[in-house]
Amino acid sequence: MGHPEGPARVRMLQHHLARLGYPFVEPRPATDADLLSVHTPDHIRRVEGGDFHDPDCPRYPNIGFYARLAAGGAVLAAQRHGFSILRPPGHHAGPSFLGGFCYYNNLAIAVRRSGKRTLIVDIDGHHGNGTEAVFHGDQAVTYVSLHRIYNYPGTGHESRGNCLNYPLPARCGRALYVETLEQALAAAGSTYDELAISVGFDTYREDPLASLGLDVDAFYDIGYVLGELKLSTFAVLEGGYIPEIMGPAADALLHGLSEGASGPDGPAA
Ligand SMILES: [Zn+2]
Repeated sequence: MGHPEGPARVRMLQHHLARLGYPFVEPRPATDADLLSVHTPDHIRRVEGGDFHDPDCPRYPNIGFYARLAAGGAVLAAQRHGFSILRPPGHHAGPSFLGGFCYYNNLAIAVRRSGKRTLIVDIDGHHGNGTEAVFHGDQAVTYVSLHRIYNYPGTGHESRGNCLNYPLPARCGRALYVETLEQALAAAGSTYDELAISVGFDTYREDPLASLGLDVDAFYDIGYVLGELKLSTFAVLEGGYIPEIMGPAADALLHGLSEGASGPDGPAA
């Protein structure tokens, strides 16, 4: 079996969304200033030079360029309120470390470059230990993560300051997931200028790595709840290892986001 984080997953996602008429734009590679807003010069040097060893992060030819392009995609997504579907993903990469298929933290770079007070919601099935390492203690950012308990990378068992962690039992299902998401958003409060979503589809019920028992329709519900925040929003792809469901799940999430955002305002509180 090949590496689970391969090109088929994004190719199928892109084809599906293109067939449905979603428009696409090409990113430019992130600049040094973009990368340095999150990563140490030494980390960037090691990624660009292939000077690292991690079985989850192969030293593919030109990986430094592709990682830079994925980071540039996230920056563009933040500017255009779009969804970057580039790979490699990012949420396991911290200021000076890589891991879990991630080299640069695409979403974190986009948040730093936006300069806005941001609520990050990470719906990938794994805890975004890299994103937490970047933003822990940062007054301008709240990080919320729902993820499968006792799984890679072994962090996110409890909340730490501005990082609100919600570990969930394997295959917990849609009702508990959505209820927990609503609780998490209530705890995070509403004083933000921007919502940044780390999107993973590895919570899908048959995903081999991080299933939380969600069906494709659950991503509509998740999008709807996030859309109801009515914040300026962008999204960046993380995981999801069943290529066939990436497109339908992304379409469901995007529909939920737009319908939640255009629905009636909730009761005043
Ligand atoms: Zn994941």
